[in-house]
Amino acid sequence: MGIITTRLPKRSISVTSIVIIVFCLIFIKSNSGINYYRQDVIILDSQMTLDQALVNNSIPASLKNKLDIVGVYYYSFDNKLHRGQVVIRRELGEDIKQIFSEIENSHFPINKVVPISKYNWSDIASMEDNNSSAFNYRTVQNTKLISSHAKGIAIDINPLLNPQIKHGIVSPPAIVYDPSKPGTLTTNSVVVKAFTKRGWQWGGYWQSTKDYQHFEKNIKE
Ligand SMILES: [Zn+2]
Repeated sequence: MGIITTRLPKRSISVTSIVIIVFCLIFIKSNSGINYYRQDVIILDSQMTLDQALVNNSIPASLKNKLDIVGVYYYSFDNKLHRGQVVIRRELGEDIKQIFSEIENSHFPINKVVPISKYNWSDIASMEDNNSSAFNYRTVQNTKLISSHAKGIAIDINPLLNPQIKHGIVSPPAIVYDPSKPGTLTTNSVVVKAFTKRGWQWGGYWQSTKDYQHFEKNIKE
C-alpha cells in the first residue's frame, strides 16, 4: 500500500510534465514560422495615417468616413519582407489582410504597396513605379465614369507586369503581358485564387477589356 501511494504521485507528476512539454513544443513549432518572419528585417515601404493617405484631394467626408488604411506584409523582388499599406473600404479590410497573408506565405513577389497620395494621386506615376494601390479618387482613364478605385472597392497589383488592354491600347504603355515573368498574374497564381475565392472579380477574366492588374469586389451600400 505504502509503495503504491508513493509511486502514484510520482507518476502523475511525470505525466503532467510530459503533457506540458508536448504542448510547449507544439506551441513553439506552430509559432516558429511567424517569429522567424517577424524577427527578420522588415522594410517599411509605407507608414502613413489615414489622413496622410487621403491628403490633397477633395474627397467627400461621407466617403472618407467609409475608408480604412490596412497594413500588409509581402515579399518584394529583393526577396525581403516589406510592409506597405492599402486604403480600402472598411468592409473589405479583413479580406485584404487575409489575402496578403496568403500572398506572403507563398512568397509571390509584390513590388511595393503605397497609398497613391504618395504619387500625388497620379495613377500613371504609381504604375510606372510598379506600385500596387487601391483607393484613388479619380475617374476611369479617358472617361468621366467614376472608377471602382474611387469607391474604394478595387486594387491593382504589380501594374508594370500586369497591364490593362482596352481596345488594343495597353496601359501602362509598351508593357508586354508575359506570364513567365515573376510577379505576373495568371489563372494559376496564388494571388488570383486568394482574391477570387473571397468573391473578388479579376480583370484578367474579363472578355472585352483585359485588366490583369485589377481586382474588385462589390459591397452592399
Ligand atoms: Zn484597377
